[in-house]
Amino acid sequence: MEDPRLIEALRAEGIRDERVLGAMAGLRRADFIDAGQRARAWRDEALPIGEGQTISQPYVVARMTEALDIRPAERVLEVGTGSGYQAAVLLALGAEVYTVEVRPTLAERARARLTERFGEHLHTRVGDGWLGWPEAAPFDSILLTAAPAEVPRTLLQQLRLGGRLVGPVGPAHGAQELVRIIRHGEEAFDTEKLFAVRFVPMTRGEAGPGW
Ligand code: SAH
Repeated sequence: MEDPRLIEALRAEGIRDERVLGAMAGLRRADFIDAGQRARAWRDEALPIGEGQTISQPYVVARMTEALDIRPAERVLEVGTGSGYQAAVLLALGAEVYTVEVRPTLAERARARLTERFGEHLHTRVGDGWLGWPEAAPFDSILLTAAPAEVPRTLLQQLRLGGRLVGPVGPAHGAQELVRIIRHGEEAFDTEKLFAVRFVPMTRGEAGPGW
């Protein structure tokens, strides 16, 4: 179970979706970060997870998950497994999760953390998430947890009709915005800007082992 202070902080900041709050309350963010940082896990802040990467701020995890409006058994692609925490939130909501991470060490650690509890509905891959996961497409939802300068077309093409993509978009070291894109037709996409964010950049063309 989560430290109740984290869930209280999220409520105070305006997170209202009880399914999302319930999913986060049933996890322990401390399990997804290194021992040295655990005392801070309940705070609403991003923390380092090694290799220059970060576990996102819980408020942002909650808002992104709310924006996706995940239903049980929906198929979700996550780009940027990182610590595995966001994937755990999606899994706790009952989603079938496909998550891609470009850094093998992070991917392996996250997989080890998630397998016991969620293994049946978890699919992990080491590789370049820019390419999506063509064999498992189409997805009901796609979640980016690293920021591309523009949303890759390959990913938009892997959304089902009516599907939604949520993620940060913008320059590596500049103003990024969280957007939600809904696919209304083969080539019809609606983009809505949600709020300003700061994520690590989505790398491109660094295919790892497994490809
Ligand atoms: N969802 C994560 C947040 C991770 S930070 C969590 O809950 O902890 C973003 C992650 O995206 C980093 O681990 C980084 O290595 C990864 N990443 C960056 N570019 C990527 C790409 N092209 N494909 C897959 N993963 C990528």
